[in-house]
Amino acid sequence: MSTPAARFSLLPSMELRSSVHHTLLQWYAQEQRDLPWRTTHDPYAILVSEIMLQQTQVERVLPKYQQFLTAFPTLAELANAPTAAVIAVWVPLGYNTRAVRLQAIARQVIAAYDGRIPDTIEELLKLKGIGRYTAGAIACFAYRKQVATVDTNIRRVLHRVFLGLEQPAPLANDAQMLSLAEEVLPPDAAYDWNQALMDLGATICISKTPHCSACPLQTTCRAYYEMSQHSLFPSGTVLRQLRKVAEKKSSYQSQPFTGSNRYFRGRAVAALRSLPATQRLSLDALGEQLKPAFSIADMPWLQQLVNGLVKDGLLDYTEEGVRLP
Ligand code: SF4
Repeated sequence: MSTPAARFSLLPSMELRSSVHHTLLQWYAQEQRDLPWRTTHDPYAILVSEIMLQQTQVERVLPKYQQFLTAFPTLAELANAPTAAVIAVWVPLGYNTRAVRLQAIARQVIAAYDGRIPDTIEELLKLKGIGRYTAGAIACFAYRKQVATVDTNIRRVLHRVFLGLEQPAPLANDAQMLSLAEEVLPPDAAYDWNQALMDLGATICISKTPHCSACPLQTTCRAYYEMSQHSLFPSGTVLRQLRKVAEKKSSYQSQPFTGSNRYFRGRAVAALRSLPATQRLSLDALGEQLKPAFSIADMPWLQQLVNGLVKDGLLDYTEEGVRLP
């Protein structure tokens, strides 16, 4: 039996690549989503959109993106703003550490790059909190560099089209997927190609039940071929496996999270947002706002929660209590 690495070494033929390029780019030209960060070349706006899109769906990002850019229209204005004001505009998008991280990036760009966001992957990766995907996205979408980038949607589409079904286990790790993405990047079309892969992954080649019948890549897709060869439509083993994994994920995602660390972190930030800027809340008072039956026995838990928020730059903590930074 071939190993994943060996199967991965079977890189797509030039003929297959060029057919996929042609079909997907043609589809994108007609079907692309109308997204505001696609109508700008401003690296700052694109940076904001990319940080917002991490862990949050497009529909929720759309209104907040406009609101954030209205509040902080330039990198310098974001860098100079009080962190509490940045967090206040960011809420309720969630994962508020992203707001702190975004502002830290803005400050680093002002300090180290004279206010100009770098245009190479190498320099972008020097910004604290920017990973390979975001670096690739900024280089490609803001500066039109001919570079590959791999997010969840791109990984899924490339895997299915060129390597086959990713269940029960992916056939390539992250580094291999990036190298595949670089290998199949069409000449002079990186922007449209990367956006097209994301659109296909978000709308048709979705995780749970891919809409293969509406997919422009059906005739060239390896996963589709594998499913059809084994008569796996519509309810065969592999699709069932795909569905099981997706259902497990979605049931996990839809579980109420009112007891989770993330829930209490969000509540703590929300409680402090309603205070005047310099006022602090004692730990006891914060605890009572978070849990109606808060008692001294909960103090170690609360202290740990506060320490985590301080570490992430979301809270300022002294003996007098806590407030937003
Ligand atoms: S044919 Fe199906 S599995 Fe293949 S890329 Fe299209 S939607 Fe995804």
